[in-house]
Order: sequence, then structure tokens, then C-alpha cells
Amino acid sequence: MNTRRNFLRQSMLTGWGLVFLGADRMLAKTTTNTMNQQFDVIIIGGSYAGLAAGMALGRALRRVLIIDAGEPCNRQTPYSHNFLTQDGLPPLEIAHSAREQLKLYQTVQLTDDFVSEAVRTEAGFRLYTRAGRPYEAKKLVFASGIRDLLPSIPGFDACWGISVLHCPYCHGYEVRNQKTGILASGDAAFEIASLISNWTRDLTIYSNGPAFLQPAQRSRLLDHNIGIVETRLARLVHREGRLDQLSFDDGTTVPLNVLYARVPFEQHSKLPQVLGCEITSEGFLKVDAQQRTNIRGIYAAGDNVTRMRTVANAVAMGTAAGMMVNKELIEESF
Ligand SMILES: Cc1cc2nc3c(=O)[nH]c(=O)nc-3n(C[C@H](O)[C@H](O)[C@H](O)COP(=O)(O)OP(=O)(O)OC[C@H]3O[C@@H](n4cnc5c(N)ncnc54)[C@H](O)[C@@H]3O)c2cc1C
Repeated sequence: MNTRRNFLRQSMLTGWGLVFLGADRMLAKTTTNTMNQQFDVIIIGGSYAGLAAGMALGRALRRVLIIDAGEPCNRQTPYSHNFLTQDGLPPLEIAHSAREQLKLYQTVQLTDDFVSEAVRTEAGFRLYTRAGRPYEAKKLVFASGIRDLLPSIPGFDACWGISVLHCPYCHGYEVRNQKTGILASGDAAFEIASLISNWTRDLTIYSNGPAFLQPAQRSRLLDHNIGIVETRLARLVHREGRLDQLSFDDGTTVPLNVLYARVPFEQHSKLPQVLGCEITSEGFLKVDAQQRTNIRGIYAAGDNVTRMRTVANAVAMGTAAGMMVNKELIEESF
């Protein structure tokens, strides 16, 4: 069992791994440069996108440092779904297992820290962290994710990722056919309601104030038996994040199991913008098909670049970013 993995672990422990791969000189160089805190690539953010980029680069024999502050956006959700081979596992377990696999690569270093400053240098980039460490790299990959800006409705943050959900593809199957609400107004409410009607027929929009729906939208919603409640919310009544009721300003309550909400967000790290990376009108880092930002040498992958917010997608984009950074490094030196 796991013969290849055991071989890798053994060979890394004995220092023979890279010799076997024909890169003994690189092994020596790696050790020296690591001590100097200089890397080919530094990845900011060591969750799914960052770890995937790290694996692609580590396997390409690049000296890689992954710096992670340990705040993935899904940290409160008990189970992660819709990622082949990892379906239904706690999200932290998926990330932990990825980190363990990466630790087998002598080319990759992981550190728990927060990158607080980044500047351009002649050779690439210099980063400073909260722990006060300077690091240098030729290239950067931002896999820093986004920060959800949760509304200040009491109970909302405790339910986030447990019974207040952002995505039916991640969690809809588990709560199918349950009494479900949508916290949104306007076109977003109409769009989310039509989407969620695929998973349940017991659906109501809670707009927490005027619903701002067009007459045609109201009548389509009515056709599908989707209710609209415009009363202001006072709080979410829950037990350890499991929603029981919505409580309104006028003193009324409704029983509810599930609430979908699309919340605003901001970039988790402001550093790409500080370095000149462009942002789209939706608030994502602008990248091309090869995960390159508009600033040469800076790549981005994961939630910080796309609305298609899934672990599978973050891993795919991280892998692509790693491969493309390596390609750029080859092109610059070959
Ligand atoms: C509540 C919730 C539930 C979800 N459930 C599912 C699900 O069931 N299935 C699914 O496929 N997807 C799910 N998702 C989506 C999925 O979690 C994301 O798509 C995925 O986590 C994105 O990975 P990422 O690596 O881009 O970012 P993240 O996982 O958010 O990680 C970003 C990392 O970068 C670090 N970071 C940021 N700035 C810095 C800095 N300056 N220095 C150092 N580190 C930094 C952060 O601390 C964090 O660890 C869910 C999302 C949410 C919000």
C-alpha cells in the first residue's frame, strides 16, 4: 500500500529523492537559498488554491514557500461537498491532508504567517510578514481568497456555512426539499430563487425591507409558489448554527431550516492592488487564461479571481497557476 508515497517520504528523509530525480545540485542550492529566505516562487495563501499551486511548483523542482494565515473562507462549514474523492469531509481535513502530502516535497516550505507588505525589487519581489520575516522571490502567486462581509443581523454569523448557505451545489443536496428562505432583494433575489427552486419547492424570499422586484418578476415567483416577505429581520434563532426560526422587527416569527444568502465580499489581501494588479468591476483580481495578472511575475488563483467558488475549482486554478509560473521561469532562463 502507498508504495510510491512511502518511497517519496523515505527518499526525502534520506536526502536521496532529488538525487534519484537527477537534480542533486538543485538539492544543495535549495537548502542554501532556503536559509537565505529566497525562493523561486512565494505563494500567499495556503488553502486549496495555494496548496495546489505549491504542489505543481514543488514537483517542477522550484524552491517554493507557501505562507498561510489559516483563515480559509469555509472554516465554519462542518462538511465540504462536490469535490471528487473528498465529498462530505470536513474542509479542514481536506486541507490538512494536502499539507501532509506537500510536506513530502523537499522543494516546498510551508509557514503559518500573514504577509503584511510586498514590494517590487530588481530580481522580483520582497515580502514582509507579521512575524517580522523578510522573504524574496522571483514570482508571486496570490491564492489569498476573499473575505465574506456578513450582515450584522444577530445569529447570521453563527449560522454561516451551517444552515445559512452560499451555494446549492456545495450544500443543496443535504437540505433538499426543506423549508428554505432566500435573504436577498431585487434581481439577485429573483435569480437565486429560480436557482434554488431546483432543490426545494418550499421557498420564500425574505428581503429584509422593500423587495425591489419588477411586477413581471413578482408574478413569475407567484406562479412558482415562491413567497415574498418584506418585513425587517430582527434575528436568526438557532441552536449551534442550526436555524430554527426567523424573528422579525414586528415581533412575528417563522420556522425555517435553511437560508441562502449572497453576501458582499472584499479581497482577503490588499497586496495585489498595492502592487498594481487590476480588479474587475465585480471585485475579483483580473487574470488571463493562464492565471496571470496584469503585473508581470504575479499570478492569482482561487476565490480571489472567480465567482465559481468551489474547492475543485480552486484546486484546478492553483494547479494551472503553478504550471504557468514554472513555464515563465523556464522561458526566462532557457
Ligand atoms: C461557508 C462556505 C462553505 C463552503 N462550502 C463548500 C463546499 O461544500 N464545497 C466546495 O467545493 N466549496 C465550498 N465553499 C467554497 C470553497 O470554500 C472556496 O471556493 C475555497 O475555499 C477557495 O479556496 P482558496 O484557496 O481560493 O481560498 P481560501 O480557502 O479562502 O483560503 C485563502 C487562504 O489565504 C490566506 N491568506 C489571505 N491573505 C493572506 C496573507 N496576506 N498572508 C497569508 N495568508 C493569507 C487565508 O488565511 C486563507 O487561509 C464554501 C465556501 C464558504 C464560504
